[in-house]
Amino acid sequence: MGTSGGADTLASDVLTAAGQRRTFAVISHPDAGKSTLTEALALHAKVITEAGAVHGKAGRRGVVSDWMEMEKARGISITSAALQFAYRDRVINLVDTPGHADFSEDTYRVLTAVDSAVMLLDAAKGLEPQTLKLFEVCRHRDIPVITFINKWDRPGRDALSLCDELVERIGLQPMPLTWPVGEPGHFRGVVDLAEGGFVRYHRTAGGATAAPEERLSAEEAEAAEGAEWTRAVEEAHLLTESGGGFAASRYLAATATPVLFGAAVLNFGVRHLLDLLVSLAPGPGPRPDAHGAPRPVDAPFSGFVFKVQTGMDPAHRDQVAFARVCSGTFERGMVVTNATTGRPFATKYTQQMFGRERTTVDTAYPGDVIGLVNATSLRVGDTLYADKPPVRFPPLPTFAPAHFAVARPVDLGRAKQFRRGVEQLNAEGVIQVLVSDRRGDAAPVFAAVGPMQFEVAAHRMAAEFKAAIRLDPLPYSTVRRLSDPAQRVLVDSGSRGEALLRSDGVYLAVFNDDIALGMARRQHPELKLESALHDA
Ligand code: GDP
Repeated sequence: MGTSGGADTLASDVLTAAGQRRTFAVISHPDAGKSTLTEALALHAKVITEAGAVHGKAGRRGVVSDWMEMEKARGISITSAALQFAYRDRVINLVDTPGHADFSEDTYRVLTAVDSAVMLLDAAKGLEPQTLKLFEVCRHRDIPVITFINKWDRPGRDALSLCDELVERIGLQPMPLTWPVGEPGHFRGVVDLAEGGFVRYHRTAGGATAAPEERLSAEEAEAAEGAEWTRAVEEAHLLTESGGGFAASRYLAATATPVLFGAAVLNFGVRHLLDLLVSLAPGPGPRPDAHGAPRPVDAPFSGFVFKVQTGMDPAHRDQVAFARVCSGTFERGMVVTNATTGRPFATKYTQQMFGRERTTVDTAYPGDVIGLVNATSLRVGDTLYADKPPVRFPPLPTFAPAHFAVARPVDLGRAKQFRRGVEQLNAEGVIQVLVSDRRGDAAPVFAAVGPMQFEVAAHRMAAEFKAAIRLDPLPYSTVRRLSDPAQRVLVDSGSRGEALLRSDGVYLAVFNDDIALGMARRQHPELKLESALHDA
């Protein structure tokens, strides 16, 4: 690495670059507007002036519909991992959280690779199931969350009830930074609670360019909007007086959430969100290693793999491993060590991927996401590092599965290939493999966060391990962790539940539904069942 003087310069470059990074993910339920918001962010950040122009296509829905086409054609999201764009003096990394049909364990794992999250809510719907699940992961990991209430241009619920829902359902104190003027459906603009005054939005044709904003003083706003303005100011004060006053420390401690109102499709409120990400969201910090010792951001290169994508097309059996850079400078061509195997990995091909675009990356800094091509030797959770000292980050957490199926080889003569494939897919985190006393080793239970994981697993078993499988779905949907393995007989004694052992040694108690769980509890009050969402 050259002279010590050179190394010093390098270290300070890393600190500067890391300090500019803001790496976040959007957590939301399908249809809340994540793709629309992504495009709007990119538009404001001026990476692409018109969102559809990524592919040189007319029409701003180009990006999204193209991804969907490819996802449909290949049965899995092969395209997006992270979008990087510049805003003011910052570099923003938006790491994609796969949703819809490809909601999977990967979606949760993405949250191990970000420093903050934006919780996107549909103003008519508030908190929805997938958002709640993802929020629980954020809470568990103390990830700070900014809330963006979207679709204010349409009829929806009132602002106060949406804020109340945050406190009542997830115990998160809302700290509004803006407050909508005009009922949902008649969105005029927002009260800027931080700086005072009224930010009035103007529509542009189709929302294709950044929406012009006009700043009015409180007096001007009152004159222009009358009762709407007064009502908005009064409502906002009601909330701030009941504990919703803004404090950055409460956001960073993940006990309260700044709230913004907007309409992504019209680009309303999007600039405010970017400003907030830049000024408030945390940048990359030292990441604790497996022993709990933090790896300084300016230590030599290190990172970890949070997602591995195998091409579904047998003709292109390439595998891309996505890694988050934790420390140091990553340079293309570097030979890094895989801490799990101790083997070197040459990073000749490194990409940043978003949409269909693949850009070759030469340099990346803490907070950035790199895609390592031809990475057949890399697994989810692997730590990569260059130079001394070596480092190994803790294994990625396992998340509560929601879908279960018994796997059997179609051809009983291929039991050996079957076993090898199952072991491999389990090791890679493609699916979780569970065994039960009832079924034995020969009929392992596959468990997944999303059903797409089954399709990927079945495809790989057939194509790669030459052991085609049959998957018989099991009716379970309610999952708990069984703290005392000896109690598994109690779970197995009911007809609508079963105890399953995961390869990390955790026993899960799974039930058909909440009613079956309730019955088991009543019959066996001594049962010790805990939330299974993630590792303690
Ligand atoms: P995703 O599933 O979360 O990625 O949602 P999309 O971005 O695909 O949006 C779902 C639907 O909501 C689309 O029809 C969008 O045009 C629409 N949508 C997104 N944001 C807004 C908004 O601010 N206002 C209105 N009225 N519609 C929106």
